[in-house]
Amino acid sequence: MIQLPPAIADVFVIAFGLLVGSFLHVCIHRIPLKQSIVFPSSRCPQCGHALAWYENVPLLSYAVLRGRCHQCASPISIRYPIVEALTAVLFLWHWWVFGPTALFALRLAFGCALLVLFVIDLDHQILPDVITLPGIVVGFVCSWFLPPGPVMSLAGIAVGGGILWLIAEVWFRVRKVEAMGFGDVKMLAMVGAVLGVKLVGLVFVLSSILGGIVGIALIASRRADMATKVPFGTMIAVASLGASLYGDAIIAWYAALFSVS
Ligand SMILES: [Zn+2]
Repeated sequence: MIQLPPAIADVFVIAFGLLVGSFLHVCIHRIPLKQSIVFPSSRCPQCGHALAWYENVPLLSYAVLRGRCHQCASPISIRYPIVEALTAVLFLWHWWVFGPTALFALRLAFGCALLVLFVIDLDHQILPDVITLPGIVVGFVCSWFLPPGPVMSLAGIAVGGGILWLIAEVWFRVRKVEAMGFGDVKMLAMVGAVLGVKLVGLVFVLSSILGGIVGIALIASRRADMATKVPFGTMIAVASLGASLYGDAIIAWYAALFSVS
């Protein structure tokens, strides 16, 4: 194998991340509309002008076109460069944590799915089955070759899906309102499949704490009241990313706090 200097490898990882980010933005835009993510090629949503390859270069095209369509000059969403840049950050971060391993590929794909789910949940308050259900299958299949192993993965699916389903069911019986959609249940089952039962427990705790903090901050800044729903999928996404990259370290730190040496 050819050994690249680390800085050059980083540049390749970032460039590939920008390209994938461009694709992820297409997914974020089209999946909630139930459109194909392959056809047609990228177009201006205003005038339908099909983008040439040089109008579709991540980050650069947005900068060169100054955020406007080449044809009709209608503004292009700032989200394109933001999603592209965030994806590049995900790529580099996973590269630094996992290095050139099979786990890198799996956790990076997982991270990309989390990013797509995060933005779609923020926009539409849905977590599409076309992402979460295949995610459960892929996570479980990969667990035969990679951590956490098939037993932990299966337990993760059961616990991840089970906890939220139970809460939703009890809440519904007691308060007669739906606490959350089943999208959250399927998303947490996906997280359990990929990360295993131990880390899905951590994700549940972290996302609840995160949801509490964000909720209090929103109420304090008068952007929300007690009845406002914070899309829980966004919290699960952020917590899962943290658990995927640093979960074992967080659990070891927590265990050390309570161990008597
Ligand atoms: Zn246009």
